[in-house]
Amino acid sequence: MTVDVLVVGAGLAGLHTATRLARAGHEVLLVERRSTLTGAIRTTGIFVRRTLDDFALPPGCLGPPIRRVVLYPPGLRRPVTLVSARDEYRVADMAALYVTAARAAADAGVRILLGTRYAGRRGDCVLLVGPDGPTRVRARFVVGADGARSRVARDLGLDRNQHLLVGAEEVFAIPAGGEAPAFHCVLDPSLAPGYLAWVVNDGRHAHVGVAGYADRFPDGLRRALQRFRAAAPGLPGVDHPEQVERRGGPIPVGGVLRRISCADGLLVGDAAGAVSPLTAGGLDPCLRLSELAATVLDEALRIGRPEALTRYDGAALRARFRGRLTLRRGLAQVRTPALAAAAFTLLRTPLGRAAASRILFGDGSFPDP
Ligand SMILES: Cc1cc2nc3c(=O)[nH]c(=O)nc-3n(C[C@H](O)[C@H](O)[C@H](O)COP(=O)(O)OP(=O)(O)OC[C@H]3O[C@@H](n4cnc5c(N)ncnc54)[C@H](O)[C@@H]3O)c2cc1C
Repeated sequence: MTVDVLVVGAGLAGLHTATRLARAGHEVLLVERRSTLTGAIRTTGIFVRRTLDDFALPPGCLGPPIRRVVLYPPGLRRPVTLVSARDEYRVADMAALYVTAARAAADAGVRILLGTRYAGRRGDCVLLVGPDGPTRVRARFVVGADGARSRVARDLGLDRNQHLLVGAEEVFAIPAGGEAPAFHCVLDPSLAPGYLAWVVNDGRHAHVGVAGYADRFPDGLRRALQRFRAAAPGLPGVDHPEQVERRGGPIPVGGVLRRISCADGLLVGDAAGAVSPLTAGGLDPCLRLSELAATVLDEALRIGRPEALTRYDGAALRARFRGRLTLRRGLAQVRTPALAAAAFTLLRTPLGRAAASRILFGDGSFPDP
């Protein structure tokens, strides 16, 4: 099989890049190792206002808007509540969103192979292993949309993520008529070392999760989630059911990688490290970077020269991440509950509240490439 572009991974980054390229008239093959797009979901699916403003996400896949964020110190006493005048977040039904995006990709002409794993390069071909066995594919360009631990990045000799958090959450339906939708964040390094524990309650579903540096969880990620679940805020009168959907995975927080393209292809989404180092939000960055990826690949295919891909430069984007990388290093240093509690003394001041509002309700999720 010969195609213009082989996209590896049907997460949001891969689906978006593939669709854009097919709409530009290129022959695109998209392969995904999962046999269904509705299983093994990794993300909470919180979309920020800026993404909702700039990208036409299917409204039927989005939950109710959230304007309220509640920040808790260890022990959960005297939380800080921030309320935006605008709708800031919506949690997507990710299974429905992936299926809708895949349908749009197929309608644009993308050939999608599920249950098909990228297994490396063999000479000038790529080896795919699917339900019917191995196949060789020749592609002008390969797009690594294969997540934080990208095999495509390794095979193309591009940069790879070194700084990762790991996160896990449980998702379950909640009865209607409860609390107003809110995003509850707990800063407690004994539960979530280097990041946050969270409860997102949008009035339809609850997401209860923790994330942090893998080697810093005192009793491992799973135990931390169990402990948090037992006392999670923001769910008064809601019983935690036995049957929950479990999600989780690595989150790159080292900033966009420097070398994300070469003559044979490029990286998008988590594979490129396109995640906000501070908030660990990757859905907005993966859409924005995929737009740029599709533009440069379209140009390279049209003029028939791979030099167009040099415009796809992670180092240039990375320079605009300096502030967020500094804040990430600061958050990583909050290593004890006492230090987290002290940080709340600052957070309760007008200046602290203003800074937190800027991070949580600002427009700075990812620089426009
Ligand atoms: C617990 C958790 C919660 C999160 N919550 C949020 C949130 O609420 N908001 C937000 O903005 N960000 C969030 N993030 C980050 C966000 O989910 C990611 O940045 C984003 O989903 C990345 O999309 P992607 O398409 O690059 O990668 P992925 O969604 O990881 O997709 C990669 C795909 O590649 C496939 N793949 C991998 N290897 C191969 C192979 N060899 N062959 C074929 N297929 C392959 C995988 O199966 C996968 O489907 C969260 C992350 C985690 C872990």
